[in-house]
Amino acid sequence: MFDKILIANRGEIALRVLRACKELGIATVAIHSTADADAMHVRLADESVCIGPPPSKDSYLNVPALLAACEITGADAVHPGYGFLSENARFAEILADHNLHFIGPKAEHIRLMGDKIEAKKTAKRLGIPVVPGSDGAVGPDDDAMAIAQAIGFPVLVKAAAGGGGRGMKVAHTADDLALAISTAGNEAKAAFGDASVYLEKYLQKPRHIEIQILGDGRGGAIHLGERDCSLQRRHQKVWEESPSPVISAEARARIGGICAKAMQDMQYLGVGTIEFLYEDGEFYFIEMNTRIQVEHPVTEMITGIDLVLEQIRIAAGGDLPVTQDEITLNGHAIECRVNAENPVTFRPSPGKIARYHPPGGLGIRIDSAVFQGYTIPPYYDSLVGKLIVHGKTRGECLMRLRRALDEMVVDGVETTLPLFRALVREPSIIDGDYHIHWLEQYLASGVPQG
Ligand code: ADP
Repeated sequence: MFDKILIANRGEIALRVLRACKELGIATVAIHSTADADAMHVRLADESVCIGPPPSKDSYLNVPALLAACEITGADAVHPGYGFLSENARFAEILADHNLHFIGPKAEHIRLMGDKIEAKKTAKRLGIPVVPGSDGAVGPDDDAMAIAQAIGFPVLVKAAAGGGGRGMKVAHTADDLALAISTAGNEAKAAFGDASVYLEKYLQKPRHIEIQILGDGRGGAIHLGERDCSLQRRHQKVWEESPSPVISAEARARIGGICAKAMQDMQYLGVGTIEFLYEDGEFYFIEMNTRIQVEHPVTEMITGIDLVLEQIRIAAGGDLPVTQDEITLNGHAIECRVNAENPVTFRPSPGKIARYHPPGGLGIRIDSAVFQGYTIPPYYDSLVGKLIVHGKTRGECLMRLRRALDEMVVDGVETTLPLFRALVREPSIIDGDYHIHWLEQYLASGVPQG
């Protein structure tokens, strides 16, 4: 096992990793920018190192400074959390070159899945069903129109290097295609330094269903069921639940089995998520994330498996915690991502949290790094915290969630709590009857005020 882990992240996920380390008896090193000197992850870590000024590129993405922090503190492993350097294969290799463990998959797998075109080809080869689309990048010499017509409109133009919903444009008809390709390409070039795009059939009313997997890197791999992340705004997840209200035990076993088998064949190491769109009973692979995800707690709540702790154990050479047969899904869990944003315009609302009262009681979990008097800096994401609720049934979970949302107080900044208070009373949500475009349509139809 590792002796000392440097946590190369901030906010709630840094705290989440820190908690797993404490339980495992591993010493922790927090790193932080000058803007985060008072942050909770810094206060709770055994040691901390300031690695630069507020902009992420100068601090949380500053690899030489991170290496120096490992050297100074004698850390032997680095946990990247999510975002920042978590899916940077080069970073994993640099750490290995310095005899440091990267708590994550093998660099080759991060690289493979980071290129969405290669990821799709690999998925197809491993027997995972994919969205119909172009075979690879659509270059200037290709007849994009012919490819799009073969797929059938509407078509989605996607960036090979995409992430966070950027570099994605829909072409509803042939007239939109050229513009969609150039806009998606330009956006991808600006965001990722790579303008390559590919085409995919644009599904009209799918759900976003993702499978959590865990691999030991030696050919052992299991799946931990699905998460339904269909409630999205601008391709960003807002609310996640497990199990999905629409996936049967048979469908879960089928797609989960396909994913676990694929990960066994790849000899995948650590946690990962295979994302699908699901429509009319069919699953279509869209991408794989080679890291812990924001929404991992809903899986933890229904499986009882601590994914971050297992991720660390497995990175240190440990075995899978359970066999596939030993996994049972208990009850239902929902996560709401409470952001410091205006609930109508979604404009970020950084600033000082004047009053903070998290809800409590049976089945309530808060993953957050904020506290009363804390100032949310303007430089990073606007997550205040994740409210995760568990119940024996989806009905009980919704009942508890409604109560927890009413109890939660975050004053001083605007938050998306009013949106969630409205959503949890919405008939379509109560019935589990929604798809990936539902939330945007709902928001467009009027102002939610819970
Ligand atoms: P990113 O890496 O930017 O998050 P993804 O490929 O994971 O991109 O897609 C993000 C979201 O965009 C999906 O959850 C879904 O809502 C939407 N999306 C992606 N591909 C399609 C598609 N072929 N048809 C319809 N919606 C899609």
